[in-house]
Amino acid sequence: MNPNQAIQNPENVCFNCLKETIVHKINIPTLGWGSQFNNFSTRIQLCDNCYSVTNPDWWKLNVIKGKTDLEGEHYEYEDEILNFVNQMPLAGQELFWNRFASGAFVDIYMKAQDWIDYKQGILPYEKRKEYGLYPTQEKQEESDCDDESIIEWDEYGYPTQESLEKLEQILNGNDIRKAIKAFYSALKENYYPDCCGSTEVEVRGEIKKVWEYHTGGWSGNEDIIRVLENSWVWSLTLERYDAGGHYYFEPIEKWENTLKNNKKEKRI
Ligand SMILES: [Zn+2]
Repeated sequence: MNPNQAIQNPENVCFNCLKETIVHKINIPTLGWGSQFNNFSTRIQLCDNCYSVTNPDWWKLNVIKGKTDLEGEHYEYEDEILNFVNQMPLAGQELFWNRFASGAFVDIYMKAQDWIDYKQGILPYEKRKEYGLYPTQEKQEESDCDDESIIEWDEYGYPTQESLEKLEQILNGNDIRKAIKAFYSALKENYYPDCCGSTEVEVRGEIKKVWEYHTGGWSGNEDIIRVLENSWVWSLTLERYDAGGHYYFEPIEKWENTLKNNKKEKRI
């Protein structure tokens, strides 16, 4: 079985080894905010062999709820599940991410082989245009959050009111991926050039990789922080705060899977 060839009749096919046999059919329902399955449901099918290399607890799909609504909810093992999915052959991933997927974030269904070709970076330009897609690489760069910066500075070194409002709008908009990207993009904007970036600090007794942001007491920076503070992303990413305007956030990689799914999604 060619791992890059779309499955014709997937009903009894194992997504992982691509064999047609008796399979466990596991439906993964959509969850709310905070989950990588937010507005996204799908199915995974595994033969006995492939099922046995996973942890059966994953498939109980226990939902962990945050203490507040803002923290949202997620499946206890969703990272493990998605890591497993992402190592499956593309023909299996296509079924998971495309054919069996549904939800508000899956507005563009692709022809199975087109999805696989797109993932391999060989879908012709004309077809990509039809789907409104960029080549894999371009999109990847975009999700690294190096795209447009939202914050604009005035001549006195303050963020402009318009740009703060634009940031606020995106953070509270419907597009959660755009909101996440905007959040991290804003964290790259700092009046003092060396006052933000990747570092490692102690968080609750553990050394962790974080994104640091120091306001330096500059009210322009504090204006940005105030806008970010009022978004749902804040409580899901802030790891540590030290008095005096020293903030430490989880790095954007935390959202890798959420942002990756972006490719086939377009929300209007
Ligand atoms: Zn299998």
